[in-house]
Amino acid sequence: METKADLVAPCGIYCGICPVYIADKGNIESLKEGIAAAFSVSVGEVWCDGCRSGRVFLTDADCTVKPCVAAKGLAGCYECDEFPCHNIEGRLEPVRRAILRSVPALREVGIEGFPAHEEAHYRCPHCGCRLHMAARQCPDCQSAVELD
Ligand SMILES: [Zn+2]
Repeated sequence: METKADLVAPCGIYCGICPVYIADKGNIESLKEGIAAAFSVSVGEVWCDGCRSGRVFLTDADCTVKPCVAAKGLAGCYECDEFPCHNIEGRLEPVRRAILRSVPALREVGIEGFPAHEEAHYRCPHCGCRLHMAARQCPDCQSAVELD
């Protein structure tokens, strides 16, 4: 059976905080449109079942973390002595920031507890609604948010 721990990507990011995953699973059209514009793809191409699934967003083709982790026989960067390496430095800024925060947290709380940890972390400080890792504004109360 698939658990939320299966949604922890090799780089350490929990897919439940990714805007692509959230837009697809919540069918949030405005978020899909923003992502489509940012990545120069069509709205219909904004889908993802999670980084470890067989149906991953198109940027997966550029991911250097997944092949590195596979070659080392590790479940993820959180098991790697070389973290953080050049594979992390090349990521998009919100992704890089999320990885640098996620891996130490993942090592601390463990993979089973990590999804709940992340769902609690990515909340609007004003209204408590769920946010994705690149959010600058709460979609619910419209407050400006600053995520680390
Ligand atoms: Zn809010």
